[in-house]
Amino acid sequence: MIVFKYSSIAVLALLLASCGQATKETQNSTQVAIENVTTQNPEIKTLTDIALSGHHGYNITRSLTTEIGARPAGSANEAKARKWAEAKFSELGFKNIKTEIFTVEGWERGLESAQIISPSTQNLFVTALGGSVATPKGGIQAPVVYFKDFESLKTAPEGGLDGKIVYISGKMKRARDGAGYGIANMKRRNGASEASKRGALAVLIRSVGTDSHRFPHTGQMRYAPDLKKIPIGAISAPDADQLDRIFTSGKDVVIKLELGAHSTGDKISGNVMGEIVGTDHPEDIILIGAHLDSWDLGTGAIDDGAGVGIVMGAAQVLMQSGLKPKRTIRVVLFGSEEIGLKGGFAYAKAHKFTDLDRHVLATESDFGAGKIYGLQTGKGEVNQAAIRAFASEFKFLGIDLIEGESTGGPDIIPLDAEGVPTIRLNQDGIDYFDLHHTPDDTFDKIDPDDMAQNVAAYASLIWLASESSSKFKDK
Ligand SMILES: [Zn+2]
Repeated sequence: MIVFKYSSIAVLALLLASCGQATKETQNSTQVAIENVTTQNPEIKTLTDIALSGHHGYNITRSLTTEIGARPAGSANEAKARKWAEAKFSELGFKNIKTEIFTVEGWERGLESAQIISPSTQNLFVTALGGSVATPKGGIQAPVVYFKDFESLKTAPEGGLDGKIVYISGKMKRARDGAGYGIANMKRRNGASEASKRGALAVLIRSVGTDSHRFPHTGQMRYAPDLKKIPIGAISAPDADQLDRIFTSGKDVVIKLELGAHSTGDKISGNVMGEIVGTDHPEDIILIGAHLDSWDLGTGAIDDGAGVGIVMGAAQVLMQSGLKPKRTIRVVLFGSEEIGLKGGFAYAKAHKFTDLDRHVLATESDFGAGKIYGLQTGKGEVNQAAIRAFASEFKFLGIDLIEGESTGGPDIIPLDAEGVPTIRLNQDGIDYFDLHHTPDDTFDKIDPDDMAQNVAAYASLIWLASESSSKFKDK
């Protein structure tokens, strides 16, 4: 039963995984401006004053990204980050600090290079997609077949690409809510399998990103079962533009591609959590999460060091305020989100028969460090009525109500599937995909004032959810 339920949401999980905004949930949503609010709940004023005058989240993110750096799923650095998290929870005064481990398949990038051999010799900036196999030693040199987007490859006849390298172009649209990600990501997720089905040797894609820098974007890919695994890499946007121009000229293109990517076998990953124990209803859990792992190219600052700082910082602000929440606030730092929401699934499995039914509300911060503009409701009338009632308290932070059905963030999808009520604080991600999964995902990109606004919003949310008598659930 559990297996079936998980596999049935796998497609959705694939669409939303790896730190993109949950695009599906924003498609049918409406932003509602909150008007005529002149007074603020005194507790919320206390919390937002503390958050906005401090650097709680910013300092936590600085510590994680500076002291540990990149934290690939299952790596030694991810293990160090779990130790860092346990120590940070303890230093900040959290209770019930706990790490729950699980096993993932490790993967390393190895050396990588790509070069146009014909019509003229030119280097390309390439990076392997997570999970890709290697090329044979010495690389693959082959003629290239151009596809303008993933859809054209998918609808191409089977066979016909024997001995070829497939190149999939197609630009991603820039949007505040990351709405272009789901579609652009299809070639990253499924490009290798669709090309393999047609006999290709290897695949290159235009990076899934919105920048014009010469950094390629990595991100997890998947092999369909029963198909030959072929290597897949992404090239930077300017390199993709260059290839597009060459193909437009009608000339034949030959590329040499070498990727050293390989599996490193079973590795330990884990979720780390800490709590502020509720006074009146300690059994009721309000979960705010982020993910501790990152890709290897940058230092995982916007993805998702920022989220780690925001949720830990928000709980820190609540502790500093002296306010005592009635319900328990549980901060969960998920492991191995990037390779398929492994931490989210492991958490749902580990808590299913213990306290999952006592989770009253769950959300994750995983869309960078940009300001929050929207408070998005979850599913069902009770949830939506309760969140609507909170909305006026967010007006002072420049946050409007978003009516829609959120799933709470990537690692919350498995909890949502088990019926845990969710909410989402929507961040401005207009430049998120300029940096996402590139070497440019570093701490200097984070604005401390924007981080403080995020921390203030999460601190307000956990307080309001703790004080509310709502169960956020229709039944
Ligand atoms: Zn992320």
